[in-house]
Amino acid sequence: RPRSSAELIRAESTALAHNYHPLPVVVSHAEGVWVRDVEGRRYLDMLAGYSALNFGHRHPALVEAAHRQLDQLTLTSRAFHNDRLAGFAENLAALTGFAMTLPMNTGAEAVESGIKVARKWAYDVKGVAPDRATIVVAADNFHGRTTTVVGFSTDPVAREGFGPFAPGFRVVPYNDLPALREAVDETTAAVLLEPVQGEAGVIIPDEGYLAGVRAVTRDAGALFIADEIQSGLGRTGTTLAVEHERVVPDMVLLGKALGGGIVPVSAVVAGRDVLGVLGPGQHGSTFGGNPLAAAVGTAVTELLRTGEFQRRAAELGRVLDAGLTALTGRGVLAHRCRGLWAGVDIDPALGTGREISERLMSEGVLVKDTHGSTIRLAPPLTITRDELVWALDRLAAVLSA
Ligand code: PLP
Repeated sequence: RPRSSAELIRAESTALAHNYHPLPVVVSHAEGVWVRDVEGRRYLDMLAGYSALNFGHRHPALVEAAHRQLDQLTLTSRAFHNDRLAGFAENLAALTGFAMTLPMNTGAEAVESGIKVARKWAYDVKGVAPDRATIVVAADNFHGRTTTVVGFSTDPVAREGFGPFAPGFRVVPYNDLPALREAVDETTAAVLLEPVQGEAGVIIPDEGYLAGVRAVTRDAGALFIADEIQSGLGRTGTTLAVEHERVVPDMVLLGKALGGGIVPVSAVVAGRDVLGVLGPGQHGSTFGGNPLAAAVGTAVTELLRTGEFQRRAAELGRVLDAGLTALTGRGVLAHRCRGLWAGVDIDPALGTGREISERLMSEGVLVKDTHGSTIRLAPPLTITRDELVWALDRLAAVLSA
């Protein structure tokens, strides 16, 4: 007999570390924007794996690419070449405009890799004194969970109990150009930022901030690293979120949707002048650039090539924005929307973000809270207008109940 949701949740609680507190839904099947739990209930997935499922669950083109590759070759390690990696990197270059790719697996690894490349660049190219390189980051950042990365987090829950931390990071307030200018000096290897702060609650900086970051880093001879792991690959209505300000960083970090929701795939992309600093043996990963990841990643770049998903995100983003505007004062205090991605501050009198998420779950909509009473909406970019309106109606129902 298959185990029930309640039994599986109990079993997880016994057998797994408690570093997550999932909504009490046990998903067993999914297609497109819809998931099904073990009892057969259907839910609209308005989280989309934190944007790892930008193309929905099991997109046919991605599943086909994975199946084809599974039947052919899955892993070589980079001790040998494989016949899929060159095409993946060429496609990424065509999509992003950056000549070189460093393939990794998870987002946090891409961030770590970007930090290493920036430091190496600072010593080899900029001429920073050995072990003196600094990296400027923003308060309320989220770049992953490794010890180095949580070391420059400003979230006590993410940090506390995990020190000592790596030195060499300076934290400035987000969206504050004077503070950034102040923090940057001759030791600065890079400024590392999210163009939209996702986990912080979909925080969109003022118009001109990203262009200002570009100007400050250019003046200081420092790299601008855009962490587009959550914001990139169509989510905001453009391939990269930095395009909203027509800004070209020196390095872009990609992850999540790059693996099509099938395998973990991340990448650092940059020009030859930057990624060219790495030599053999200086960095690597057993699974980074594996043929299965490269095949799925290539199929992802092919989906993005036509601009169709970016256009959908922009168009449906206007529906999402208008729907949330209509709820303002009716349970929604404020919202921030860029493309098909919104942070929604719910009136705390109506409940915590968690409680709202649980009520939405009962209505057949899956979302995730961030801080306090903020929930985030980030459905697959394949969602239809009717499905999006339906989800907004469910939110309205929950807020007026
Ligand atoms: N960077 C950003 C902006 C993210 O949103 C995330 C994940 O939420 C990460 C990095 C870390 O990615 P991963 O969980 O794949 O390590």
